[in-house]
Amino acid sequence: MNRYISSRNRNDIVTAHQAIITGLSKDGGLYTIEKITAHIDPSEVLHLSYQQTAEKILSAMLDDFTDEEMHACVTGAYDKKFDTPEIVPLKQIKDGWLMELWHGPTCAFKDIALTILPHLLTASIRKDDKKEIISILTATSGDTGKAALEGFKDVPGTAITVFYPEVGVSSIQKKQMATTRGKNVDVIAVKGNFDDCQRMVKQATSDPLVLASLDDVSISSANSINVGRLMPQIVYYYTSYAKLVESSAVACGDPVNFVVPTGNFGDILAGYFAKMLGLPVNRLICASNTNNVLTDFLNTGVYSTHRDFTPTISPSMDILISSNLERLLFMASGYDDAFVSEMMLNLQEKGSYTVPEDIMAKIRETFCGYWTDEDTCRNTIHDLFESEHVLIDPHTAVALAAKKKYTSETGDETPSIILSTASPYKFTHDVLACIDDENITDDFVAMERLQQLSGVKVPPSLAALKDMPVRFTRSIEISDGMQVIAERMKEIGNVHD
Ligand SMILES: *Cc1c(COP(=O)(O)O)cnc(C)c1O
Repeated sequence: MNRYISSRNRNDIVTAHQAIITGLSKDGGLYTIEKITAHIDPSEVLHLSYQQTAEKILSAMLDDFTDEEMHACVTGAYDKKFDTPEIVPLKQIKDGWLMELWHGPTCAFKDIALTILPHLLTASIRKDDKKEIISILTATSGDTGKAALEGFKDVPGTAITVFYPEVGVSSIQKKQMATTRGKNVDVIAVKGNFDDCQRMVKQATSDPLVLASLDDVSISSANSINVGRLMPQIVYYYTSYAKLVESSAVACGDPVNFVVPTGNFGDILAGYFAKMLGLPVNRLICASNTNNVLTDFLNTGVYSTHRDFTPTISPSMDILISSNLERLLFMASGYDDAFVSEMMLNLQEKGSYTVPEDIMAKIRETFCGYWTDEDTCRNTIHDLFESEHVLIDPHTAVALAAKKKYTSETGDETPSIILSTASPYKFTHDVLACIDDENITDDFVAMERLQQLSGVKVPPSLAALKDMPVRFTRSIEISDGMQVIAERMKEIGNVHD
């Protein structure tokens, strides 16, 4: 059986389903698979459906689920909620292939993991015959929030609360969250940025006031600190590779690069897991926007949050504290929990840490980082539309720009797959402004204009927002966070009684 161990204490050992229920370990560390023993050759997933590949990979990583349980989770998640039976289609452009991860219910890549996480979690609860309600606390930079709300709304035995930065998310992202239906959901704006939201939900798991408010309620997370979020993201690295082989673009076994627009380092870490499982991954190119803390880290070995936080048009990557990097440090240091604890303490106390050269060398065998400023991001959207009539969102544009820089700097000709993480319609205003001179202020008029220009249909779930009543308007101070969470936990417990 796979063992999942805390990155800050190797003696805290759980199985996969226990890690899914708990989210974060008690010491604040992240549960990380101790050793990847399975090997999945890409030849094994050729000509399989997305669902079949998902079952194979998830069963290898989350090996305490039975085949029946995993089958039910996978088929419950990857169904008509996605607007294509392929689930994750691949589109060729001049610079490589766009892996389109936004065909799910909320039009961003978070749907891939958050459509299956509720199934994995409820199956896990059933295994342990747990009676208490699982209260999901989620911080969002814009996309996780809505995907988690859709995934968990009205799921028995669970409640979900989402915290998002009051300033930063796009107006459409905000509307998506504020209009969510469902009895067990709550959405709260925070007067701070994403890092403040993430810190709040992490702190809540050990805060005395919050702990005292838990009666028949236990806390878990839908952020990528949860193993159940990360593992489903391995699947599309395999399925997209298989598509390249099936179309004879690469021979089976030949290496490819993946370019990943990165915030919390979850998506790109899943690519690393894919590599360890046996996918021929050459480089994982970490693409950042102006908040380029990861680019600097990969280049210098110094992770420093002593810098300005800059809101950008790719808000889902406006992050200075990238949680899943902790897992990479743990793996690259040979699972050295004392080392990781020291780094994380430095981060907390001094706002920075420095990783020794031997560990950086190990990391750089696979990872490299490039960042893109706002003008280049806008130009990338404009140029791709002009030259190939393909419309991309700002996060995808950050990745495409990184790919171009990487190629011109290294001359590496390895075929590259660029992760396209959101529908351009989630960021209608900014995308439209890149390809059109008209200044339209109304979101829905802008959507229609974008549709007219691009020929790409507005996703029905976004068009429908126009007539949906806003349900959640609350906004809180960061300093009131623990009080607010404690009250919410009591409310959840009371409903349960
Ligand atoms: C969340 C998100 C990202 C960043 O993914 P991480 O797993 O946090 O690195 C990139 N693009 C979009 C559109 C997102 O929603």
